[in-house]
Amino acid sequence: MNALGSRIASLIASQGPIPIAEYMTLALLDPVAGYYATREPIATDFITAPEVSQMFGELIGLWLAQCWHDQGKPKRPLLVELGPGRGTLMADALRAMKLMPEFRDQLEVVLVEASPVLAAQQRKMLADSGAAVRWAGGFEMLPKDRPLFLVANEFFDALPIRQFVKTGRGWNERMVTAQGNGTLGFALSPVAVPAANVPANRDGAPPGGVYETSPAGESLVEAIAHAIAANGGAALIIDYGYAEPGFGETLQAVKSHSFADVLGDPGAVDLSAHVDFTALGDAAARGGASVYGPIAQGELLHALGIDARAQVLAARNPKKRDKLDAQIERLCNLDQMGELFKAIAIVPKNAPTPPGF
Ligand code: SAH
Repeated sequence: MNALGSRIASLIASQGPIPIAEYMTLALLDPVAGYYATREPIATDFITAPEVSQMFGELIGLWLAQCWHDQGKPKRPLLVELGPGRGTLMADALRAMKLMPEFRDQLEVVLVEASPVLAAQQRKMLADSGAAVRWAGGFEMLPKDRPLFLVANEFFDALPIRQFVKTGRGWNERMVTAQGNGTLGFALSPVAVPAANVPANRDGAPPGGVYETSPAGESLVEAIAHAIAANGGAALIIDYGYAEPGFGETLQAVKSHSFADVLGDPGAVDLSAHVDFTALGDAAARGGASVYGPIAQGELLHALGIDARAQVLAARNPKKRDKLDAQIERLCNLDQMGELFKAIAIVPKNAPTPPGF
């Protein structure tokens, strides 16, 4: 067991087994040894859509600008990205937004990032963007009185989840515990969750069935929706996940583009879980906003004009045609990122339907 694992094991020895959410928080965000706090994950361990193609960030930038336009150009808009990775999406979005200078020139850009390593990369990436950019450690630190235009790509999958397993006694939480030999293992909490706390759509689960919740993700979406309902704006959340919750578990560890052991090497592997879009949509509705989707990423990108954008880029540089076609395939084809990845949009109740939905 590595040093962070031993620390987690002694925490458990003194206070008892911890929920998976707490384990994920320590493994991902521990300031000394956490995965996001210390590593440069993107490209090393996994690849994300903005790193596949510049067209992804460009189309999202224009989507946000169009929503602003459709809502009557509200003054002093904030442009926020949650978990911006290397800053590629934001760089591409800001470049595309030059087509809408009225929006771009009055933006204040805020990047919400927990990782100092990635924040440094974002600073470099956006140094020449010409935009006013600042950083915040959490969404709760943002001003609450401004129109909010927000994007989050592959951010919600990184937020901690809890798991509950169907047993003869009801639903019991799956916890992380320390085993005699110093390694970490899973164990079920002996006390079942009160029936009133179990989401209604979990009826009919087979024995051993699992459901997952992301309390952090749900409360964050509710806060975003609340801000958008109050001051206008639009949020686009894209991630891999499911529209209909099932009874399987989706917590996974990834290192160097392969699956790894969730508990074996905390801090050295990426941990994530599929996003429950129904739960996020419900949270947005609780926040008082309208929710559109989820729709498949491929469907959204085609509707936003990825094919026309590729034509323009290929006309400028014909040698790139094959590369651009391959990028569209990767982002949009159903057997690649096009279907597992989904998008929801959050806008005020009286706002026009956002583009692509
Ligand atoms: N959106 C980027 C990166 C996705 S990786 C892309 O598409 O390439 C997840 C990102 O979320 C990283 O930037 C990571 O550091 C950040 N992150 C993860 N958990 C976070 C948290 N709790 N608060 C803020 N940022 C977080």
